Amino acid sequence: MTLSERDQHHLWHPYTQHKTAALPIAITKGEGALLWDENNKEYIDAIASWWVNPYGHSNRFIADAIYKQLTTLEHVLFGGFTHEPAIVLSEKLMQILPANQQKVFFSDNGSTAVEVAIKVALQFFFNKAEKRTTIIAFENAFHGDTFAAMAASGISFYTQAFKGMFIDVVRIPAPTKGKEQESYDALQMQIQNNPCAAFIFEPLVQGAAGMVMHEPEALDQLLEICKQNQVLTIADEVMTGFGKTGKNFAMDHLHQMPDIMCMSKALTGGTIPMAITTFTQVIFDAFYDQDINKALFHGHTFTANPTGCAAALASLELLQSPEMQANLVRVHQNHLDFQSKIKQHPKVHTTRVLGTIFALEIKTQATASYYGSLRNKLYDFFIQNGVVLRPVGNIVYILPPYIITDAQLQKIYQVVQDALEIV
Ligand SMILES: *Cc1c(COP(=O)(O)O)cnc(C)c1O
Repeated sequence: MTLSERDQHHLWHPYTQHKTAALPIAITKGEGALLWDENNKEYIDAIASWWVNPYGHSNRFIADAIYKQLTTLEHVLFGGFTHEPAIVLSEKLMQILPANQQKVFFSDNGSTAVEVAIKVALQFFFNKAEKRTTIIAFENAFHGDTFAAMAASGISFYTQAFKGMFIDVVRIPAPTKGKEQESYDALQMQIQNNPCAAFIFEPLVQGAAGMVMHEPEALDQLLEICKQNQVLTIADEVMTGFGKTGKNFAMDHLHQMPDIMCMSKALTGGTIPMAITTFTQVIFDAFYDQDINKALFHGHTFTANPTGCAAALASLELLQSPEMQANLVRVHQNHLDFQSKIKQHPKVHTTRVLGTIFALEIKTQATASYYGSLRNKLYDFFIQNGVVLRPVGNIVYILPPYIITDAQLQKIYQVVQDALEIV
C-alpha cells in the first residue's frame, strides 16, 4: 500500500472534502525549493508550503540551531520562568519592528497570534472601564480559524457554519484602487455607529482573498482615522511578515505604526510552529496594576518554546544576511519581468506584484468560486507539471521560497503561462 492510501485510514486533512478530494500526495523529502513524493516525482514548492518557508526545505543552518537548542534546553514552562532564546529573540525583534512595538507575547500559530491580539484589544478597554466591544475588519479578510480570528475573517467559505456565534465584527471594503474613498467613509461610519475597540487588517496584501493588494498611502489614511478615534490598530503580518513584501514587514511601507502586530508563518523558517503578538508600551501599561484581574489571563502550554525561539533566531539571521536580501530583490525582478510579459495575454484579466508576491487573475465569465471547478482544473494541471500552486478561484499566485533559483522560477512562469491555454 502506498503512503497516500494508508493516509486515508486515519487522517483528516485541513480544508478537504474527503469524499471528493483526490488522494493526498505523500512527500518524502524536501530540499531548497524542491519536494519529492513517494514515487520520486519532483515538485517546485511555488507557494513556500503555505507561505512558511522562505529559506528552503531542510535548511541546515536552522536545523543545526534547532539541534543545538534541543540538546541544551528543549522546553521549559514560561509561567514564572524565562530563558535566553526568548530574551534574545525579543531583543532582535525590537531592532526590526516598528519603533513603537515594545512587548512580545508568544503563542503557537497565526490564529492564536490574532486571538491574543483581539483579546488584548478588548481587555484594554475593559481594564479602562470603557465600553468598546466591536472589531472592525476588511471584507474578504482572513485572520485564521479559531473563534475570534474566524469572526474577524470575511471569507464565508470558512465561517458560514458558525454565523451568529461570533464576537461583534463590522466590515469595511479594503481600499483597493478606486475604492479608497468608499473605504475611508465606511470606516468613519462604523466608528461613529459602534463602540469600536480595534481595527484588524492584513497590511497591503489580503493573502487568502487571492493576494488582493492596496497602496500604503490608503492604509495610512485608515490608520490615521483610527488614531483620531482611539481605535486600536492590529496589523496581521502573519503572511506578509519577514520579507514577503520586499521589506521586513508590510508596515515598513507605511508612515503610521500599528498598536499591535501578529506574526507567525515565516517566523521559524517553516520549521517549528510558533507565533508572536507584539504590543506598544501603552497597551502593556493598561494591564500593569496591583489588581490581578487586570492581568492578561491567556497562555499556551508551549508558550515561547526555546526550540522554536532558536529556530526563529536562526531564521532572522538568514533573513538579514546580504545573500537573502539580494534574493528578495532577485525574485521581485523576475516577477516584474514575467508580469510585463504576461499582462497583455488575452486570457489575463489583471496582474499584481509586491516584493516576492506575484498574482494573476484569469478572465472568466462568471465569478469563479473559491474551491470551484476552474480552481481544481488549474490545481491539477500545476501538480501534473510538477509545480505546487494553490489557485484561489480564478487567481493564480506565486509566493516562492526566497532561495528559489532563476531556472525554477522560469519553470513556474512557463507552467502558469501554459495553464492559460487549458482554461
Ligand atoms: C495563515 C494566516 C493566519 C492563520 O495562521 P494559522 O497559522 O494558519 O493559524 C492568520 N492571518 C493571516 C494573514 C494568515 O495568512
